[in-house]
Amino acid sequence: MNEEIEILPELEESEDFSNLGLSEEVLRAVLEKGYEKPSPVQAQAIPLVLKGRDIIAASQTGTGKTAAFALPILTLLKQNGPLRCLILEPTRELAQQVEKAFHVYGKYTDLKTTLLHGGVGYGKQCDDLKQGVDIVVATPGRLLDHLGRRTLSLEQVNFLVLDEADRMLDMGFMPDVRRIIGQCAKKRRRSMLFSATLVPEIESVAAWVLHNPFRIAIGGGTATAETVTHAIYPVDERQKFDLLVAILKEIDYRSVIIFCRTKNGADIIARWLENTDHKTAILHSDRSQKERDKAMEGFKSGKVEILVATDIVSRGIDIMEVSHVINYDIPQHREDYVHRIGRTGRMNNEGDAVTLFTASDQDFLKNIEKFIGQKIERIKLDDFDYKWTPILEEVKPQPKRRNRGFSGAISMNLGRKRR
Ligand code: ADP
Ligand code: MG
Repeated sequence: MNEEIEILPELEESEDFSNLGLSEEVLRAVLEKGYEKPSPVQAQAIPLVLKGRDIIAASQTGTGKTAAFALPILTLLKQNGPLRCLILEPTRELAQQVEKAFHVYGKYTDLKTTLLHGGVGYGKQCDDLKQGVDIVVATPGRLLDHLGRRTLSLEQVNFLVLDEADRMLDMGFMPDVRRIIGQCAKKRRRSMLFSATLVPEIESVAAWVLHNPFRIAIGGGTATAETVTHAIYPVDERQKFDLLVAILKEIDYRSVIIFCRTKNGADIIARWLENTDHKTAILHSDRSQKERDKAMEGFKSGKVEILVATDIVSRGIDIMEVSHVINYDIPQHREDYVHRIGRTGRMNNEGDAVTLFTASDQDFLKNIEKFIGQKIERIKLDDFDYKWTPILEEVKPQPKRRNRGFSGAISMNLGRKRR
């Protein structure tokens, strides 16, 4: 890889979709979708991809990375042909989401996109492949199965996208990804890597996959959205669930994701919530594909207001209207805090991030606060009957920081109505 690093100048505010070089068909679909202005990662990536550059792009979650690659790729593919574009995604839900986006942005083209992921039969996938597709959105495992069965060939792939690369790395997919890339065309291949954060392991994958890439880094890679308000609720382990119920009662939520550390924990919390008359959906990797789809559908459509999940949902899943993220269990990896919280406050919507905190979580919290460069306010719920005194610390005045992705003041305004 050429190590040249280029940083683009800040773009003018007036930049709009129509002068980025997208095809008329794609532009029409974008405008119809209601996007007014490209997000920063889109404004930077789209012209570069159209020029044929490889790119590595880091931009916080919820900033529109999907369209940043989908729009120029759809523009360049133009017409129906052999399989020329492969997008790799770490989870089934993400793959579904990105495939859907390709359908939306490509609705005025005759390009065909199909979805390949595990947990479902091969029938439809093989039929689609046989009929011919231009774009495949896949999870690595199922794609390798298809390659083994020779139901598809990657020899003519000239656009390769590694999406949500940090998650792919965390989930241990990199060896699979390398095997897949080994089967893609080398000549004329343009490759792109998108990630919320850039860690050294990703840089090394990038060095292997990308050719002379242009580097786009927006917001430093660890920032959480400025529109999210954070709060810690200290509580004794034995009253955790009661406090959760009290918090749910207190807040004006429309749609909330509750993160648990384990699958079993998520099942238990969901069951208890159901017993307290809260309708919930559950999402984790031990649920069948049908159950996972149903949970996402119910939650996205607003039929179910509470989704209880493990970290499988913490990366990349885009649900526009999530008003609250509640960490029932504090994340053990500090990056997961940023990713979980990234499920709310997307595209400048407001969001609240609530974390329950027990005495044994001290080190995790310290680590998270160090990572995000901010101390999070500790809150005691007024009307809750604390049987054990919660560990509340003095909140120091917040120093003003630039570019940390947080506004200086973190006031908790749980009851507010949002857009
Ligand atoms: P990321 O991959 O960076 O996490 P996504 O591609 O999932 O983000 O996009 C997040 C949300 O933003 C999606 O709902 C998408 O429809 C919306 N979005 C993308 N680009 C724009 C834009 N230019 N204007 C308004 N909304 C947008
Ligand atoms: Mg994404």
